[in-house]
Amino acid sequence: MMQQYLALKAQAPDALLLYRLGDFYELFLDDAELAAPLLDLVLTTRDRDTPDPVPMCGIPAHAAETYIRKLLAEGHAVAIADQVEDARQSRGLVRREIVERASPGLVGNPDRLESQGANYLAAIFVDEQAAAGAAAESPGSTEAYGLAWVDISTGEFAATQTDDAARFRAELARIAPREVVAPDTEKDLGLPTRCAEAGEFDPQRVADRVGRLPAGLSANETSPLARAAAAVWSTVSRAQPAALTHVQWLRRWTASDHLVLDPPTRRHLEISANLRDGGRSHTLLELLDETRTALGRRRLEQWIGEPLLDPAAIRERQDRVETWLEPDSRRRALGDALRRVGDLERALVRATLPSGGARELVALRDSLRGAAAVGEVTPLEDVGADVAADIARVLVDEPSAPPRGEPHTGYVRDGADDEVDEIRRDSDEGRRYLESLEAAERERTGIGSLKVKYHRVFGYSIEVTKAQVARVPSEYRRKQTMVNAERFTTDELERWEGSVLRSRERAAAAEARVVEELRGRAAGASDRVRKLASAIAELDTAQSLAAVARAGEWVRPEIDTSLELEIDSGRHPVVERTAPDGFVPNDVRVDADDAQLLILTGPNMAGKSTLLRQVALTVLLAQAGSFVPARRARIGVADRIFTRVGASDSLATGESTFMVEMRETAAILSEATPRSLVLLDEIGRGTSTFDGLSIAWAVAEHLHDAPGLRPRTLFATHYHELADLARTKPRVRNFHFACAERGDEVLFLRRMEPGAASRSYGIEVARRADLPPKVIRRAREVLANLERGEFDERGEPRIARGSGSPGQLNLFEPSPDPVLEELRALDPESMTPIEALVALGRLRTQLQEDE
Ligand code: ADP
Ligand code: MG
Repeated sequence: MMQQYLALKAQAPDALLLYRLGDFYELFLDDAELAAPLLDLVLTTRDRDTPDPVPMCGIPAHAAETYIRKLLAEGHAVAIADQVEDARQSRGLVRREIVERASPGLVGNPDRLESQGANYLAAIFVDEQAAAGAAAESPGSTEAYGLAWVDISTGEFAATQTDDAARFRAELARIAPREVVAPDTEKDLGLPTRCAEAGEFDPQRVADRVGRLPAGLSANETSPLARAAAAVWSTVSRAQPAALTHVQWLRRWTASDHLVLDPPTRRHLEISANLRDGGRSHTLLELLDETRTALGRRRLEQWIGEPLLDPAAIRERQDRVETWLEPDSRRRALGDALRRVGDLERALVRATLPSGGARELVALRDSLRGAAAVGEVTPLEDVGADVAADIARVLVDEPSAPPRGEPHTGYVRDGADDEVDEIRRDSDEGRRYLESLEAAERERTGIGSLKVKYHRVFGYSIEVTKAQVARVPSEYRRKQTMVNAERFTTDELERWEGSVLRSRERAAAAEARVVEELRGRAAGASDRVRKLASAIAELDTAQSLAAVARAGEWVRPEIDTSLELEIDSGRHPVVERTAPDGFVPNDVRVDADDAQLLILTGPNMAGKSTLLRQVALTVLLAQAGSFVPARRARIGVADRIFTRVGASDSLATGESTFMVEMRETAAILSEATPRSLVLLDEIGRGTSTFDGLSIAWAVAEHLHDAPGLRPRTLFATHYHELADLARTKPRVRNFHFACAERGDEVLFLRRMEPGAASRSYGIEVARRADLPPKVIRRAREVLANLERGEFDERGEPRIARGSGSPGQLNLFEPSPDPVLEELRALDPESMTPIEALVALGRLRTQLQEDE
């Protein structure tokens, strides 16, 4: 047996092999040691007495799905080895084969997924030559990066390409695939990666091998997009060929049509995962999710994950949201109908997989009936009524679960299929005999406790308690002895039993055939059903955003292509919900040609970071098609949003270092465009004050000055010196967060006001904290000294000086010093000792005067 096991294991080296043994799936050796703690199973050993006992653990076959789901969720691939011949008919070892495989990114059966969210396998392709060209910005550089992703539990298949490495990484991070297929040159992605050979990325070769490609992908295409898509197609065909039927067409996705959020920004904004524990609570998505179907939830994630750039397309989404704003009763009616739809996409996949039985088809029917109910609230083109009706005509309303190890019958409706009807008619007499046997025999024998029993292995028998055994008729033959009873059979019973069991097998086969036909018809309609699911997903997303907008009194933002940003009384959508004393709204205006760079100063806890995030979220929401938490908003679309948080401010993630902060900042400076929105939060904080301030200053200047750049920027900082930028830079505006005093307390008003924060704020806090008056007085003096040195004669900040400015010290090119000049001019050889002494004295006096 271990030989057979090892042979099977060799076919699935990367997967945990579940090996069927009786009523259990067993895992052996390394697999057992890995899985036992994960699944909370007892690790035992086989052949305990041998010197090398084999570790093993087992999961009960009837509960296998739960364990498989867990293993997949933990990122492990599984292979299932089942017995492929009847144990009763085989001699020696039963033959076993790997009958199914699943890996985290390729889960064909939706029941095996832990979440209702999307579950992607991705493939990437990098054209190294084009990538090098794009990096060098050589003219005519072509698309270099291809990315394709598939969810075989829903049938979604999409691909994109770009010549921008950063955009490519951002997309990959957004899609967050569970597994990636990549050429072996790209295996260090930081994601579970399967390496694939070059042939897998060749659409022509993949088409030849698999036999076909999905609609939207042609064999003679050689773009990176096509290559990545081919690799996805090939991988699915090898690992889960049955799933290809669900993947009908390739959606081509254009990265440049969408607002890009790079990975750190996504993290800082807590869009789908919070910074605290990576969970969904207090995230934007949790807040926006009033969807009623899993379809809608996935689509909402898509809308929020892929905000748009085209104002017309954004307005179209806004229109849809607005449709469901009022009246509330209509939106609720839609919600109630939507709830009945459930996860139509996955219901379709379940029902049309080979494992799909009567119950899966009936679930599809119910989901489609839900769609029909939606169609009564709002017009839908095609609700698949014929598919639902077909299932309803053939199958009973509520089919029973298939019994374990026995023929499953009784789920096809009477009158739906001639063969099934005929078999049922044929077996009627036998069934009636068995049904009436108990009553008849009780009466005949006078044994009140007599029962007719059925057992999966032993078949039918007549059971009589021990106390009454003496009274059984002579034709009863003893079949089985129990603790308290005896079981008997008779010739007649055996005859009928044989006929009933035979017709049950026939019925099971006939009903299975009926279901298979039905499954085929449902699969034939799958394109239409998928379209329907997509329409419902849009509806659900729109009503969800409408519900949120309505409850939070959000407004529809104006969208245009200006480089401006106007938010009146804006709020942070998530913080607003939890602020104990209510949330203070703020106005924000940014304009690439005027107030381009806002410097926000103020003490800790004043509300700077919140404001930054609130602006970013408002722009993101607006471009996703949602309403926004404000009284009025006008958004000139942004192509990218960058958010950076200084090292010590993002300790929550526990991984930030100053180096990371600087790397992220460098990425902004190289990737931002004039249409970008840049939010810098305490940049430079992760190092010493002078260092940090200098970096912050230089970064801000660059964003202001760099020709052709000028992205709309908000810069929050506790370095109040940065406020001095406004003295020399025309598009810099200062704001601060107002505070008030109440007795010895500082009250944060959370109100953003023009002008920089007071410099002596910290000393003020120290005073209230009862530092000795003498210390406070001295601190004020020191501060005054520092401030005196801050500006030059012309009132310009000294910190702003550069090496090119006139009339100032320059370390690298010293201006001529009169003493040095004179020294240089001396000619000691021609001087008398007295002359030399006089010159020396004069130089010394001059030096003393200079001091
Ligand atoms: P800073 O970045 O200036 O240190 P934060 O933005 O982190 O301050 O804000 C600190 C806390 O103040 C937040 O956690 C939030 O609870 C609260 N807060 C911030 N802005 C507001 C506001 N506008 N209205 C009400 N509470 C706010
Ligand atoms: Mg902060």
